[in-house]
Amino acid sequence: MAYNLTIEQENKEITKRYKDLLKGAYQAFTNADKKEIRKAFDIALEAHKNQRRKTGEPYIFHPIAVAKIVAYEIGLDTTSIVAALLHDVVEDTDYTIEDIERLFGENVARIVNGLTKISHLKKEQNASVQAENFRKMLLTLNDDVRVILIKIADRLHNMQTMDAMPQDKQVKISSETLYIYAPLAHRLGLYNIKTELENLGLKYTEPEVYNDILDKITQSTEEQNIYIESFSDIIRESLNAEGFDYFIKGRRKSIYSIRKKMLSQGVTYEEIYDKFAIRIIYKSTPKKEKFDAWKIYSIVTDNFIPNPSRLRDWISQPKSTGYESLHITVMGPQGKWVEVQIRSDRMNEIAEKGYAAHYKYKNNSERESGLDDWLNKIKESLENPDSNAIDFVEDFKLNLYAKEIFVFTPGGDLKALPKNATALDFAFSIHTQVGMNCRGAKINGKLKPISHVLYSGDQVEIITSSNQKPNIGWLDFVVTARARTRIKNALKEDQKKIAEEGKEILTRKLRHLKISLSENIVNELVNFFKLRTSLDLFYRVGSGSIENPQLKEFIAQRNNSFVNFFRKKIKRTPKNTTAAEKDELIDNYDSLVFGKEEERLDFKMSPCCNPIPGDKVFGFVTINDGIKVHKKDCPNAISMQSNYAYRILTAKWIDSTKQEFKAILKIHGVDNVGLVNKITEIISKNMNVNIQGLNISGNDGVFEGSITVSVQNKSQLQKLSDSIKKLEGIDSIERIYKH
Ligand code: MN
Repeated sequence: MAYNLTIEQENKEITKRYKDLLKGAYQAFTNADKKEIRKAFDIALEAHKNQRRKTGEPYIFHPIAVAKIVAYEIGLDTTSIVAALLHDVVEDTDYTIEDIERLFGENVARIVNGLTKISHLKKEQNASVQAENFRKMLLTLNDDVRVILIKIADRLHNMQTMDAMPQDKQVKISSETLYIYAPLAHRLGLYNIKTELENLGLKYTEPEVYNDILDKITQSTEEQNIYIESFSDIIRESLNAEGFDYFIKGRRKSIYSIRKKMLSQGVTYEEIYDKFAIRIIYKSTPKKEKFDAWKIYSIVTDNFIPNPSRLRDWISQPKSTGYESLHITVMGPQGKWVEVQIRSDRMNEIAEKGYAAHYKYKNNSERESGLDDWLNKIKESLENPDSNAIDFVEDFKLNLYAKEIFVFTPGGDLKALPKNATALDFAFSIHTQVGMNCRGAKINGKLKPISHVLYSGDQVEIITSSNQKPNIGWLDFVVTARARTRIKNALKEDQKKIAEEGKEILTRKLRHLKISLSENIVNELVNFFKLRTSLDLFYRVGSGSIENPQLKEFIAQRNNSFVNFFRKKIKRTPKNTTAAEKDELIDNYDSLVFGKEEERLDFKMSPCCNPIPGDKVFGFVTINDGIKVHKKDCPNAISMQSNYAYRILTAKWIDSTKQEFKAILKIHGVDNVGLVNKITEIISKNMNVNIQGLNISGNDGVFEGSITVSVQNKSQLQKLSDSIKKLEGIDSIERIYKH
């Protein structure tokens, strides 16, 4: 808006603003105070009389506004108001520090001098050098911290009136505000000022983002009000019955904090679930204040399930900024998390305006000494740059020491799980079948894999699919005994079923080869494939790891009498299987791995002890004949181990059909509706393939994505990528080895 007032109107406006300044200040003014403020106003008015701001307004509007912030928002004393009115006089006019000292005394002169020095200190290009210099400057000036407080007020008003500035200046000043002034205001407990600085900072550095979030907030205001109303309705009766004088209001997260959260957590506006808090502010007496807070707490938690890990009691132990409040996060209406802040109106004022507000409630002498106390606290906090680390630890220690976590169902039921529990543990804690069919989870509204580790306060919604079933890889990340047992049982059942199918398949295949399935043949096959039991054999046929080529090989070797003879010779009498062995009957050792890295290496079985799969063995590196494998109780073992310890390799039998490996597939294609669904459908239809992660991002009609799957072998992976390639819209799919 263009500024056009007549001189008469302008003078009226100046007088009005000046009178306003004296009205609502925290500190009560004596006549001497008023005289001093008037004198400062007159001198500033005179000194700046020929100056105008970029908006066209008379310059004096600015010092009056800064003085008003100092008086109303920060609650400082007469000396500070006088200094605020004079803060640009030495910088911009012919007045000197000596003049100020002569007219207003040493204190005011020192503060104005400090403010003048700070305005000279903005020449550095490098933001971090500048910040460091700034901090040093603050420390040398901090024998009067009022300098810093007035400087923050000065910056706030400049930010509020920046529209008329050229854009490059707006961006520069805003960046500096976000970098230095907002954190400083935060540290000093000036919550309202900090929030306003941040919002204004964002408005000028990223106008589109700012406006976008502002629009969304405006659109969701009504919905939010309805929500708060439905929350209030539930507790109103109980609060009234207890005779509380209170009001309930919504406290919205600032535009800047919403932006920060969107960036740091990679979520959209809609996905932020704590966009606002509910604040219950009550009237009380100093004696009953704390008791009342806990009484209200108990009314709230009687009606809504609290998340015990999110309780913050800053009433018993106020923050170093003087902040007092009781916070609890509860499952509110519609199964949504909402933070409830409980505080008296006195606490509320301190929370919004800083510690000086505290002294509004005290008598005159307490007020003065109280302000001094606060200024000293600020000084300490500035001298110790690590002090905010303490608040940080306070915020998080409850979470750090907990052995249990508390998570919630979409309906708001509380589940306690051990630390490190995953989404899959949660699924099994709901119901065995939910666990069995668990394909993924929505954690606080975001899609995550079933192996995702949960934290206290997470809201977990399990996604199931009737195609999904347990696989051995699940045992790697579940931590609850319940999930573990259920998975193991299911795997055994599953393998028995596959073995039954396998037996039928084997019968059929052998018939084609003109052999009928007899006990003898089964034994021969078990020996030929180095297995332990017939169940092992049937399972392998059923799961497809023994197929026609292998069977033909068996037939060929069976017809070779020498091999036959050899086989008979090494055939061993079956051991009596113990109960424990039966329990592990699905462990089919068919491959040997060596060393700590469990590498697959070429080896030969040593003829001196004839080890077979499952025996306890070790590898011995020979001079000319590679690795020879011996049983641990081989007659030669002791001499080899004592004389050639450096040539011994540890060795371990594994079941290659249970070895899974992770593979990442990179996909490029044309964005089309439902493609992601089609891809996930293909993956879930492919038996033995498990999806571990899916990351797809679209841009201008094309998309790029990566799928992480675990498979048992390369042919499974090939099958999968072949069927994805056939989908309409897929350009290319290739395996990559790193994200
Ligand atoms: Mn200024």
